[in-house]
Amino acid sequence: MKEANVMANENEFTKWYIQTIQQGELMDYTPVRGCIAFKPDGYEIWEHIQQEMDRHFKETGHRNAYFPMLIPESFFEKEKDHIEGFSPELPWVTEAAGEVLEERLALRPTSETMIGHLYSNWINSYRDLPLLLNQWSNVFRWEKKTLPFIRTSEFLWQEGHTAHECEEEARQETFQMLEIYKNVIENFLAIPVYDGTKTPSERFAGAVDTFSVEAMMKDGKAVQAGTSHYLGTKFAEAFDIKYLSRENKHSYAHTTSWGTSTRLIGSVIMVHGDDKGLVLPPTIAPVQVVLIPVGPVKKNPQVLEKLEEMFAELKRNGVRVRLDDSDQSPGFKFNKWEQKGAALQIQFGPRDHQNGNFVLKSRDEEDKQTFEITELLSVVEEQLEAMQKRLFQKAKSFRDQNSHLDIDTLEQLKQHIKKSQETDAVPGWILAGWCGAETCEQKIKDETKFTSRNIPFNAITKKSHCISCGEKAAHTVWFARAY
Ligand code: AMP
Repeated sequence: MKEANVMANENEFTKWYIQTIQQGELMDYTPVRGCIAFKPDGYEIWEHIQQEMDRHFKETGHRNAYFPMLIPESFFEKEKDHIEGFSPELPWVTEAAGEVLEERLALRPTSETMIGHLYSNWINSYRDLPLLLNQWSNVFRWEKKTLPFIRTSEFLWQEGHTAHECEEEARQETFQMLEIYKNVIENFLAIPVYDGTKTPSERFAGAVDTFSVEAMMKDGKAVQAGTSHYLGTKFAEAFDIKYLSRENKHSYAHTTSWGTSTRLIGSVIMVHGDDKGLVLPPTIAPVQVVLIPVGPVKKNPQVLEKLEEMFAELKRNGVRVRLDDSDQSPGFKFNKWEQKGAALQIQFGPRDHQNGNFVLKSRDEEDKQTFEITELLSVVEEQLEAMQKRLFQKAKSFRDQNSHLDIDTLEQLKQHIKKSQETDAVPGWILAGWCGAETCEQKIKDETKFTSRNIPFNAITKKSHCISCGEKAAHTVWFARAY
């Protein structure tokens, strides 16, 4: 992949992405449209993300629970915005054990309805609040256009569902969870994000407010990496989630929901990957260190013995380490482990053994370095940490360079897109004024394919006029092409 060309070319970038995840052995296609299989390395990346998220959820007082995958049709009809938003994407179970069911059952696209139904029984008094639950599960959304990890018909995710006494507390919860997403995505996945409020047209079906964290991929397109919704009392009214308040009054609970999915795996690859294959932040790399023997090893059995010692030391100290003593050539192994995104390669042969050294190469750097074997563990720990920081910094400077603040009219935006195409550059994102009218948002989309990503909480600069109609701007918004 020649980065400049591939980044700017939609088809080439998609081809590169699919080739990278397949050669990296993360997934495979199945005969069911939009449903992928996770191979062990792909699933392990998800497990690391899961563990980190879960740790934060529990630290903030949430507990995990599990709810059924099948949801009665009548549940969806109770909240009209919810059914309107989700009905085009629902797969249905209509028959079981050879009989037609009395009521169709949907494969859950999200669980507000089932959980709302149960919360109405579980919540009776203010003493039952706040109720702070999370579910790890699969969900189904029959998407028209799919792309592995990024947008699939079945995906794995977590969905938090909480109920509170008042609006203020529920809104605080919504922000707290978005902040956790931001923290994990930036510090664990090394992906910088912009946090902000979704415009009404991009809101979750049934939410009062939706907040998101948005990330820029290497082709300049946006990915909605996580969302947190304040649902007001809409679901509480639909499902009768009432509690006896401190003032002895029956009141509706204020609810929230928030989710992140296996889309995060796709985002990591699209942000950090390169022409050699996967580049994974050390925090989630299934292989953090691979030990590769080089030179005439058969004549020097002590090389393998030393490598086994190094392997044992790293493993004992919690490093995810592999020793590749297969009969393939060292060159083959270097390429293979680069393609699979092993964070560090340690190359070690008879001469290194004699000198008491090893050679180390970080996946994201060209040059190799030599270190003393006695310092193995501390070097590995330092190098993993340094790589993690470099990946974030590199992604952040790419994002900052491609976040444009000086485009104020549709004409300028069209010129900018045209120029990007001519110069093989990515169009990136623009921060622009918006009057608040849906017609203006739609016009921008129709004429440029740029959609509103979010209204950032901390806009770098405030815009005075709507990019579409030129009237006074009510908001300053990130616009971009999005996945
Ligand atoms: P939502 O419940 O619609 O707010 O979705 C929560 C999160 O799940 C979104 O912010 C996306 O990151 C992710 N997501 C939504 N749809 C899909 C999909 N079809 N495939 C993978 N991830 C998705």
